Amino acid sequence: MFLTFALFVGLAVLGAGLYTGLVLHGRLRSTMEQTLRTQAERLLYQVVPETPSHELPATLALLSRVTGLHLTLARGDSVIWNGQAGRPILETTPPRLDTLVSAEATVRFYERFTTDGQVFYVVLHDPASGWIVRVGQPTPIWYRLARQMELTLVVGMLAALVLALLGSWIATEKVTGPLRAIRNSARNIIEGHFDEKIQVHTRAAEFQDLAHHLNKMSDSFREKIAELQRLTRLQTEFIGNVSHEVRNPIFSIGGYLEALASPTMDPETRKRYVEKALQNLNRLNNLFNDLIEIARLEYRADLIHPSVFNLQELLEEVVDMLYPKAEEKGLIIQAENDPVYVRADRERIRQVLTNLIDNAISYTDEGYIRCRIRRRRDKVHVEVVDTGRGIPEEHLDRIFERFYRVDPDRSRRSGGTGLGLSIVKQILQAHGEAIHVESTVGRGSRFWFELPYAEADEAVSA
Ligand code: ADP
Repeated sequence: MFLTFALFVGLAVLGAGLYTGLVLHGRLRSTMEQTLRTQAERLLYQVVPETPSHELPATLALLSRVTGLHLTLARGDSVIWNGQAGRPILETTPPRLDTLVSAEATVRFYERFTTDGQVFYVVLHDPASGWIVRVGQPTPIWYRLARQMELTLVVGMLAALVLALLGSWIATEKVTGPLRAIRNSARNIIEGHFDEKIQVHTRAAEFQDLAHHLNKMSDSFREKIAELQRLTRLQTEFIGNVSHEVRNPIFSIGGYLEALASPTMDPETRKRYVEKALQNLNRLNNLFNDLIEIARLEYRADLIHPSVFNLQELLEEVVDMLYPKAEEKGLIIQAENDPVYVRADRERIRQVLTNLIDNAISYTDEGYIRCRIRRRRDKVHVEVVDTGRGIPEEHLDRIFERFYRVDPDRSRRSGGTGLGLSIVKQILQAHGEAIHVESTVGRGSRFWFELPYAEADEAVSA
């Protein structure tokens, strides 16, 4: 970039310099030559007679005094007059003007440096009369001024060249410096240093803006990469979990079937083995149903069919269904609520309540399970509270993930697939709602969510 600048500026200055040095200077010299030549011609053809008279030197002395020119008149070797400003110049060797001109080259222009400075001469030869006249003039003031201007112009141009090169170097540094910084940071990001921030040390708003946007872009890429990594990790975990969950019951069923093939088995053991094999089959069936349910909910929001229904009634149905399980463990279920209507998918909400209450029973050894429904403005707040073992804080964020269990053995023993809360989350998400949890280890847990409130009469018209 700098080289391009330098090339253009250099060419411009060189062009201007050449014009000044060659063209202008040449014109000055030719003007000078022309002026002196006109005067020499006037002298030769208007003043000098064919045959010289004795008054001729006096006339030339007068003329040189009046014009201030250096005049020389000669014919062959004899010099008639050689003088300046009216005074003759007595030179030890008389000027041999005939050596400067000839019949072919009748005019000669030259310059000489004397003690008075630079003097320009034009020598004119008239072959017809044999007269040679020389007119000399010390550098006139206009010529000197023009030369000074020429010099000033050249020096000025050189200074401009240096300044332009310096300026363009600074300008290119200002442009390429930040670009280099951006390129280095981009290279680091490509090499995997995703935390790298692009920093430009410039006050130019464009570069700051560019760096800011590039940083935002890399931030968003970083987030997306982290998300992708998280998803890949979850997927790997998921695949591992599925194969584990599926393989276990299949192995068990295989084992029981092999044992059942034995002819010596007593009927009692045979019956127990058949039951065990069926239990495992049942577990497999539940697992696939849950997995299919999650997948359907994840990819098809249209599976939700909202209607207006009495949530209290639905809750009672679920509690009635799970009551035997609670009773078996000696647990009390409190579920006295007033009728409240909501707009939601009744069957899916039944599943949500079933999973939450079933978990509460499974993970509570003594105490009670309380299911409460309360209206709060345009929402209905639903909560399931238990006095169970609770969930350690570090697991709270993850219990809604598929197959995540705080205590895998206990979960399996109680018939859990590790998918219950994941289904709850998916169903509520499909309703535009969220599931919340708070828990204290050793004291119990509280799961709650909200549903849109509806008026009772809507249920009739719905
Ligand atoms: P699971 O089939 O194992 O019950 P869930 O998805 O329903 O799977 O629950 C995930 C995990 O969350 C359970 O394994 C259990 O560790 C924990 N959990 C769920 N509900 C409760 C609760 N009410 N009390 C204590 N832990 C619970």
